[in-house]
Amino acid sequence: MTPVGSMRVVVLLGAPGAGKGTQAPILAEHLGVPVLASGELLRRVAAGGSPLGAEVASYMQAGQLVPDGTMAEIFLQRLGEPDAARGAILDGFPRTGAQARALDDALATRGGSIEAALYIEVPEDELVGRFADRRICKAAGHVYNLNSNPPQAPGVCDIDGSELVRRPDDDEATVRARMREQLAPLAEVTAYYRDHDVLSIVDGTRPIEDVTAGLLDALGPASPGPAGA
Ligand code: AMP
Repeated sequence: MTPVGSMRVVVLLGAPGAGKGTQAPILAEHLGVPVLASGELLRRVAAGGSPLGAEVASYMQAGQLVPDGTMAEIFLQRLGEPDAARGAILDGFPRTGAQARALDDALATRGGSIEAALYIEVPEDELVGRFADRRICKAAGHVYNLNSNPPQAPGVCDIDGSELVRRPDDDEATVRARMREQLAPLAEVTAYYRDHDVLSIVDGTRPIEDVTAGLLDALGPASPGPAGA
């Protein structure tokens, strides 16, 4: 791992469907660091066909969290890869208090710490309604919403031209299980970061550009714009 104090590690928090997957790449471009999305990472592990992949897939399909030990190992290994040496936007990790502590410990061994935890807040009722309209592209997981953020051509990703599909875990039963399972641990994570004075809350019910502005505001004047703008 690279021992650097200048790593920019920003944790993006929010319930499933709050807009983390939409905002993460925008923030990443502003900061010049990659997005590390736990769901994407796990979907890749699950598709790999290994015994670990099969285990991960069974949790995901049930809308349950992958156990902390397995999750921390998979994610922290990814955070140690060279493209994240200068930092990363973390989307979907940590999702429990234990994962937040594991992340802090891993960063501390590299002389770093997280810069901010940004919580995109959306009421639960609105969240449940958003999933029916969510689509992701087959090639790279780019996120669309048929209502609030539709693709230019129906069913086709604007960015890479691949087909847009529903995520297999976006059916209503799985969504409800995911909410039940994940809201309590999320509260644990927000409490953890509030206690560590790095939590900012941003209203996630506003239009996408306004949410982005709120997130950048919360990061403060130290964050450089694209190409130093
Ligand atoms: P997401 O794409 O972030 O909604 O994640 C999809 C699924 O992956 C979740 O429903 C969980 O089963 C699993 N998952 C993602 N991130 C984590 C995490 N940090 N800890 C445990 N399970 C996770």
